[in-house]
Amino acid sequence: MVCRARLTYCAEALLAGALLFSPQTPALAADSLEALKARDAFASLQFGPAPALLEGSAADAGEARKVSLAPGLNIFFINVFQGDAELIELPNGQNLLIDAGPPVARDSQFTTPIVSNFLKKRGITKIDHLVLTHPHADHYGGMEWGFDNLQVGNFYDTRIDNSDAAGDDTVRAKAKTEPGCAVSYPREGQRLDLAPGVEAQVLHSCPDVSKSSDYGQNAGNALNDCSITLKISYQGASALFTGDIGSEVETRLVKTYGKALQSDVLKVGHHGSAYSSSEPFLKAVAPKVAYIEVGKYNDYGHPTPLILERLEKLGIALHRTDKEGTLEYALGRLDFQALAFRPSPYPN
Ligand SMILES: [Zn+2]
Repeated sequence: MVCRARLTYCAEALLAGALLFSPQTPALAADSLEALKARDAFASLQFGPAPALLEGSAADAGEARKVSLAPGLNIFFINVFQGDAELIELPNGQNLLIDAGPPVARDSQFTTPIVSNFLKKRGITKIDHLVLTHPHADHYGGMEWGFDNLQVGNFYDTRIDNSDAAGDDTVRAKAKTEPGCAVSYPREGQRLDLAPGVEAQVLHSCPDVSKSSDYGQNAGNALNDCSITLKISYQGASALFTGDIGSEVETRLVKTYGKALQSDVLKVGHHGSAYSSSEPFLKAVAPKVAYIEVGKYNDYGHPTPLILERLEKLGIALHRTDKEGTLEYALGRLDFQALAFRPSPYPN
């Protein structure tokens, strides 16, 4: 491997030699002392103060915003406790945030939503692409803060209203008045224009006007089943982001897309709920590694033992934010498989 001029690339070369575990060997990633030591070495190599890493770099302004080791497409499954937030660093230096976790809890000592910790620590001041998969508070809760404190370039939304909540209306109102922000409602079959070489295919969404109260007692499920579902591909690898879709939507996706659902990485639907992650769906996606975004001690019993067993039975390596904190996956670079299991140095 060529060790290029930038410190970050040199660190990559060292790492590739030190950490050659693969997605098929999760035990090594989790348990091996050597792996842990190497991981520590990796963290100190890579995540020293960002200015040092960027010093002397001739990178353009976009690249300069990246502090991640891998130069391609990096996914962060952010630990926002019970909720979803995935930040994707795109190869052109821009970023995509899928959901923004819950709002500040009423009895919390904090004044800003938990997702803000991660974004502030990384020095992120702009979200180029923001996706609200569906209007439940554990997905939109950090967005009001986001619009108030960050610049947002594009906002992708559904048109289902959460009739029992006002927070989604607030976020949507802010998106409409955000300077320079384009609001759109992607339909199934559309592709989001994110970055050269990156394909972001919309597999499912609810672009037509509706409201959850129309579904009576089934309102919660109706909202979940509206989740914008995105398959993101880069350099021959792919990741599937499912929001909180339930098994009925999964069944439709299997019927419609079959083997085209296959993705290397799966963001497990609905925090590991028993009503998502049906076996036919998991078999069609056939991920090497799955990530569950979930909070400790949540009231919903997420993730359910049934789903954990199912994932294990299918040989899918599993990572959880409640146990491991924020997690990072580098997509599309076979020589950086090692990054797949690395907990992010940003504990929140
Ligand atoms: Zn949720």
